[in-house]
Amino acid sequence: MNRAILVLWAVAVGLPLALALTLNAQAEPEKIKVLIVTGQNNHAWYNMAPAMKEILDAAGLFDVTIAQTPSKHAPPEQWDHFNPKFTDYKVVLIDYNDTYPRNDPGDRWPARVDKAFESYIRHGGRALSVHAGNNAFDGWIEYEQMIGLLWRNNKQGDRIYIDHDGHEVRVPKGKGPGAGHGPRHEYVMEHRDTEHPVFKGLPKRWLHAEDELYHGQRGPAQNMHICATAHSAKNQRGTGVHEPMIWQIPYHDGLVMTNVMGHWGRGKNETGIPLRCAGFQTILCRSVEYLATGKVTQPVPDDFPTEDKVSLRPPFKFEPLIEE
Ligand code: ZN
Repeated sequence: MNRAILVLWAVAVGLPLALALTLNAQAEPEKIKVLIVTGQNNHAWYNMAPAMKEILDAAGLFDVTIAQTPSKHAPPEQWDHFNPKFTDYKVVLIDYNDTYPRNDPGDRWPARVDKAFESYIRHGGRALSVHAGNNAFDGWIEYEQMIGLLWRNNKQGDRIYIDHDGHEVRVPKGKGPGAGHGPRHEYVMEHRDTEHPVFKGLPKRWLHAEDELYHGQRGPAQNMHICATAHSAKNQRGTGVHEPMIWQIPYHDGLVMTNVMGHWGRGKNETGIPLRCAGFQTILCRSVEYLATGKVTQPVPDDFPTEDKVSLRPPFKFEPLIEE
């Protein structure tokens, strides 16, 4: 092509194309960029991460990327390629747990990734920890501040529960139970802040599908805003009090939410029932939108569970991730 033809071509093809792209961009509101970090967990991370992507994709508001770490005990040079650019995303979802089993735990992130994550949240980033995300990173002080209550023993921090009058009770370290859970069962979730954008308009109490009910979580528990709890029944090997299930903590200019629902074990018979719960899916999508924008535009779905009836969505369609 000579130069004159090239210019003509650019005007004839390039300009309308650029215009069309611009118009298209205006017609479609920009999706919220979300990063799910996964790759090691005592749970089926290879199912959980794509399941959560599938749930978020269905909401139509999110552009979800999965950042997968090297597999457990991969050679250090493989970690050189794990450099998630947190600042490219509005919300980072933590689906990672390096703490199990105790005698052969998984891998901590490299220090540079820890620092990048701290800096991201410190400067206004947003994160959501799901289920065993609060088990992770024992001894990473900044992470433990962001999460507040973690799966730790009773010497590793205070405990918070809600008494039968709705008051928060702080139990000092060394007293009372450490982290645990009884057998999986259906339990009633109770929203404690019904004006919070995530929970506004949703039923205050609803029955969650069969899941683990974490109790005795421990940590620094500073600046916690408890959004939802569940009663941990003694006859389910629980504590007899209301345990925090969803909470949020500001960290400098950032904000971190923790949601301890969402068990998906590694056993052959595990099908991710807790993640199919319409309540879990609704709150996941609303939490991510709230974290990204400060508000929630998603309507309350017709199939949201009631206080005495579980509501399951259809089985997932994703392909499991493969270890790297
Ligand atoms: Zn679990």
